[in-house]
Amino acid sequence: MTALPQERRLVTAIPGPKSQELQARRNAAVAAGVASTMPVFAARAGGGILEDVDGNRLIDFGSGIAVTTVGASAEAVVRRASAQLADFTHTCFMVTPYEGYVAVAEHLAELTPGDHAKKSALFNSGAEAVENAVKIARVYTKRQAVVVFDHGYHGRTNLTMALTSKNMPYKNGFGPFAPEVYRVPVAYPYRWPTGPENCGPEAAAQAIDEITKQVGPENVAAIVIEPLLGEGGFIEPGKGFLPALREFATQHGIVFVADEIQSGFCRTGQWFACEDEGVVPDLITTAKGIAGGLPLAAVTGRAEMMDAAHAGGLGGTYGGNPVACAGALGAIETMKELDLPAKARRIGEIMHGRLTAMAEKFDLIGDVRGRGAMMALELVKDRETKEPAPERTAAVAKACHAAGLVVLTTGTYGNVLRFLPPLVIGEDLLSEGLDIIEEAFASA
Ligand code: PMP
Repeated sequence: MTALPQERRLVTAIPGPKSQELQARRNAAVAAGVASTMPVFAARAGGGILEDVDGNRLIDFGSGIAVTTVGASAEAVVRRASAQLADFTHTCFMVTPYEGYVAVAEHLAELTPGDHAKKSALFNSGAEAVENAVKIARVYTKRQAVVVFDHGYHGRTNLTMALTSKNMPYKNGFGPFAPEVYRVPVAYPYRWPTGPENCGPEAAAQAIDEITKQVGPENVAAIVIEPLLGEGGFIEPGKGFLPALREFATQHGIVFVADEIQSGFCRTGQWFACEDEGVVPDLITTAKGIAGGLPLAAVTGRAEMMDAAHAGGLGGTYGGNPVACAGALGAIETMKELDLPAKARRIGEIMHGRLTAMAEKFDLIGDVRGRGAMMALELVKDRETKEPAPERTAAVAKACHAAGLVVLTTGTYGNVLRFLPPLVIGEDLLSEGLDIIEEAFASA
């Protein structure tokens, strides 16, 4: 376990003087397009605590955007990655391979949904994994079109910008975007016109109708969807939506790609979020939680699809870096040993109870949703019109930050507070964090 004391401690205002000094240097040296949620510079992190350069200890409800699921200094990750660093940092898997890469692929075959034969290819970032899933689907099907969804987010590279739904800040001014990308409706229960009960089947019918009429299923290489949409606002597609699209893909020979980069690796209380409705994707993209904070991503899927690309068609200099692979082996070991899916469900129970009680007290909260340790509140100006309240969402987040709690906002309308604590957070810190959120609402 981490040596970092698991206690919130504020010794300066947030940000403190050392963070402010670093922020001034950062502003002079770092490109303005790279933004940060808080102008607080990290010194150490582990468990549920992030310590800044001024000695403040913040409770972490962000996990570096769903990455440090096992904590930011998990023992097995540190041990295995350090040992690997001492042995060798890099050979390039495309030059002389090494065991760690193979072992990660073996774990991915075992842990991802479905008992068919699976293979994997490893990359450095989520966006790169999604790009490669599309390459694989295209070469396998010999088709070009890719279907994505409203509120979807898949990355910041050129193809993944095209796949991403939201203009600001992800796409504005960065076009032209890759062609043959088609966007269809997603089942967003809270905002579905005929109500949440009908949302899944109705949205699926609408999406399938649009794919059929506007693209033609015989032209579609891949349907790419987040089983629980992250940057779109922690939208859980209405029940029935994912299975209907999975079925449609099967009928038409379309590769069904689950982007589990944010929702995967125990986050939602299962190893992968698509398990919730028993959906087995053809390809699954993972990153973030996979390697305890080291940069690693993967595409895992049906062996015959993964083998469709010619030798040399997939890869990259750093893809599946040995230190990152060692980190992944440490993270997976920790997830199994500590039964982190169960831990995520327990966090979800606690959070859901507290957040639902807050929704009864504060009209600003329009919806409480999410699963496991991927929970969110959608904030609205008026519960009848559901008009989004992005300014007040920012104000609540700011109040949390000032009190020493790292929280993130999200959503197409910028009106969702999302909570992604490390799964190893102590229950005392979890409930202290929830107290801070409640106080922030009371003062908003
Ligand atoms: N897909 C999803 C669902 C994501 O949440 C993200 C990152 N927020 C990405 C893709 C892109 O991952 P990366 O930032 O590692 O490129």
